[in-house]
Amino acid sequence: MRVICEKCKQPKQHSADELRESGLDPAATAGFLFAEGPGCLECSGTGYHGRTAICELLDLSDHIREMIVDRRPTSEIKRAAIAEGMITLRESGMAKVRDGITTLREINKVTFVE
Ligand SMILES: [Zn+2]
Repeated sequence: MRVICEKCKQPKQHSADELRESGLDPAATAGFLFAEGPGCLECSGTGYHGRTAICELLDLSDHIREMIVDRRPTSEIKRAAIAEGMITLRESGMAKVRDGITTLREINKVTFVE
C-alpha cells in the first residue's frame, strides 16, 4: 500500500457520500486525519512516496482451529474470526487512513468494502 508523500501531504475533506461509499459512518470519522498529496517534485507528481504493509491478524482460538480442522467454509471461519476480534485487511488499512498515512482512495483500491 502506498504512503502519502510527506512533502506535499495536505488535509483532505471527504464528502459524507464518499465516506459512506467507503463503508464508513461519517459521524464516526471525526478523529480521522484524512490526507492526500497533490504531487510534487519529490514524489514525481504521484502524491505517494514509499510503501507500507497491511495485514490480517488472526489469533487462532481453539474454536477457529476446530473449524479449520472440520474444513468449514472459509466465509464461515472468517465470520467467526471477525466476531472473535480478528483485524481484517480493510480495518488494518483504515487505521492507516485514520492516521493520515495513506489515502481513502488508496485503501479502496487495495481492499474491498466489507
Ligand atoms: Zn509529493
